[in-house]
Amino acid sequence: MTADIIDGKAFADGIRTRIAGEVARLKDEHGLTPGLAVVLVGEDPASEVYVASKARQTVEVGMESFEHRVPADISEADLFALIDKLNSDPDVHGILCQFPVPDHLDERRIVARIDPAKDVDGLSVTNAGRLATGQPSLVSCTPLGCLMLLRDTLGSMSGLDAVVIGRSNLFGKPMAQLLLRENCTVTMAHSRTKDLATHCRRADILVAAVGRAEMVRGDWVKPGATVIDVGITRVPHPEKPGKTKLIGDVNFAEAVEIAGAITPVPGGVGPMTIACLLANTLTACARIHGLAEPEGLTA
Ligand code: NAP
Repeated sequence: MTADIIDGKAFADGIRTRIAGEVARLKDEHGLTPGLAVVLVGEDPASEVYVASKARQTVEVGMESFEHRVPADISEADLFALIDKLNSDPDVHGILCQFPVPDHLDERRIVARIDPAKDVDGLSVTNAGRLATGQPSLVSCTPLGCLMLLRDTLGSMSGLDAVVIGRSNLFGKPMAQLLLRENCTVTMAHSRTKDLATHCRRADILVAAVGRAEMVRGDWVKPGATVIDVGITRVPHPEKPGKTKLIGDVNFAEAVEIAGAITPVPGGVGPMTIACLLANTLTACARIHGLAEPEGLTA
């Protein structure tokens, strides 16, 4: 058996097209343009690439993009003053600060300063708590993207056994909450889990978010399972000297022979993250203005 390959790039393209349609409708019917503000502290080259990509995709769907580049030695007080300004700016519906930030700044305090209604990364205690207690929330973008791919692949997930490897606040915990809401029986595995392979072999849905290249072997996968590979490890390219390539947490060549459906790396989960950031910005805009939320773009 060879698994269906879940094409996250095509799915993300479709989401962006839908978002662009919704943005045009908001403009026509309500004179509103959703706006996303991204704050970049310092000049980390990887962050520069992410921020440029976010800004480009934001503009492409018809939203306003506000980029705020501030020096690496900015004080917490000055950064908070900027966030406060964005919190009260009616043209801004989503705010994110690109992490990591320099050591003198505390990521948790930065997230806590952002208005939860504009916290499109879904990282605040308020949004995490709302998700955990079944209230409308803004959900962290990568788990939201995985949920969309799973819904599209499986339809109902009710009663399925799901295993999430990794328990970070950014991904593992919200992913587990989302699967629980879909009525899965959820196991959260982590670095202290005993006999991880045995847990994985029971999973109808296996989600790996660790950051250890190819740690999930083919014989850890239940036949027919849906495998979502979130992990990204950059390694030297075997055929192109000086170049690198991305490897997932799952040994794709082995797992594709056993699974029912699987996301590749790259081209699986990765493209969904920015698409879901735009979806969250649209959702935040609709909620802030008391309008109906776009269907299928929220958890
Ligand atoms: P993280 O905060 O480093 O968390 C990693 C998790 O993996 C931790 O919960 C850790 O357990 C667990 N772990 C480590 N070694 C393990 C092992 N041997 N067996 C089982 N579990 C183990 O990472 P993250 O932010 O969640 O990201 C995870 C991966 O997803 C990374 O590769 C990251 O680059 C990728 N990612 C991709 C996207 C995307 O857009 N595609 C977005 C977010 C993250 P403990 O809690 O016990 O330490």
